[in-house]
Amino acid sequence: MLTPGRGDRDATGSTVRPRAPAQCLTEHPFSQHSGAMGERAGLPEQRRRPRPAGKRVQRLRPTGEVVVGGLPIDPADDEGLGILHADLDAFYASVEVLKDPSLRGRPLLVGGTGSRGVVTSASYEARADGCRNAMPMAQARRLCPRAVAVPPDFATYRDYSRRVLRVFNGVTPLIEPLALDEAFLDVRGARRLLGGAIEIGRSLRARVREETGLAVTVGAAGNKFLAKLASTRGKPEGLFVVPPSRALDFLHPLPAEALWGVGPAALTALARYGLRTVGDVARTPRETLEQLLGAAAGAQLAELAWGRDDRPVVPFEAAKSVGSEETFASDLDDPDQLRREVLRCAVRVGRRLRESGLAGRTVTLKLRFADFRTMTRSRTLAAASDNDTEIYEVARDLLARLRLGRVPVRLVGVSMSNLAGRDAPLQLRLGEEGVAWAAAVRAADAVRARFGERAVDRASLAGDRPGEAFEEARDALRPRRDRLVDP
Ligand SMILES: [Mg+2]
Repeated sequence: MLTPGRGDRDATGSTVRPRAPAQCLTEHPFSQHSGAMGERAGLPEQRRRPRPAGKRVQRLRPTGEVVVGGLPIDPADDEGLGILHADLDAFYASVEVLKDPSLRGRPLLVGGTGSRGVVTSASYEARADGCRNAMPMAQARRLCPRAVAVPPDFATYRDYSRRVLRVFNGVTPLIEPLALDEAFLDVRGARRLLGGAIEIGRSLRARVREETGLAVTVGAAGNKFLAKLASTRGKPEGLFVVPPSRALDFLHPLPAEALWGVGPAALTALARYGLRTVGDVARTPRETLEQLLGAAAGAQLAELAWGRDDRPVVPFEAAKSVGSEETFASDLDDPDQLRREVLRCAVRVGRRLRESGLAGRTVTLKLRFADFRTMTRSRTLAAASDNDTEIYEVARDLLARLRLGRVPVRLVGVSMSNLAGRDAPLQLRLGEEGVAWAAAVRAADAVRARFGERAVDRASLAGDRPGEAFEEARDALRPRRDRLVDP
């Protein structure tokens, strides 16, 4: 991927250009693997050179391998380099390119394509024009009119995510997934077998590409905080290594927002005291930070600013909640329609719970009104459930108790929290009917897994075109109603 300031590489793979002072790009042994993704990898249109007719030219990506302070790393440092953060590059967009190779090299936006759609993933070609994740789709399309916009296909993303996790599993069982496209790995135990963290990072990147066709950036450091910062700096298609003895050289020049937990409010508070870089924060007494930001946040910042983070990599940390939300293209005020949307969300939550082998006890209904007021209502069940009907019935009851009448609703969501692994107590709790229904929903999951998201759905949803990937198409089919309030 070519990005400004990034080291470039010629056909012999020999070019080295530092991206920043005190860092060096080194030869990457797997650059020859670029093959399929190399073209997608994003030469922006204007930088493409025409191919000689009839001759296949292998384009080599400038694969970034950066070691803070330059190579080599002394053995004591290598010992402390045990935490990796692996983050797939433009994950959804990259999967869409694998599904449809004609999209390769084109600016691509994945997300809601309706009037209120939001970009969930932008290819690097689209980012070159200023498109960003979480940006309103309409704005992204104005910035990059030639971009192709596609609705998300979470079933396929989950499938790829599982394949990537299998590759990670070949390296270490100590994997903490943070999202479909990123995970921490503790490779300290794998080093004797697989070499140092740099070698492991290289081989991870090569194997993910071989097994899935996806590009992944790896950050390697002595702890989670620094490893995640490293992968951010290494993007895209990089391996960015922060040896522990050079961590502060890397960390202190970074802007204060690089510190985990520093949001806009904290940033403003820090800026008021002239604290703009991580180094500024590090040199501020802990008591001052605690007064400024509160005891917990201040203490945490004081630690992080010195590169200290002792959070362990917790394998397969259970999700805190599983949820599904719908934002409507136009506000809903029809109680029947609203109930149907609640059912749609409940069905998805049930499916995701079952896919993850989880069950939950607390059902939460969330509503956002046309004036952006947001309301949640929760109820905790006597025993954990992963059953669509049960989730729906609770959510519907929570909705009914609000006695909304015809209030325009902008967003509805259902989530399940208080999660636990699905196991024996759940089975024991189910009566005859419960067992039969549980079997039915699992059969439906199996059919979906085999034939696609739209193969099976509840009868009450059949009037629409179900499937989250098609929510925008479905929105378009709805009769538009005049909104009482248009935010
Ligand atoms: Mg990512």
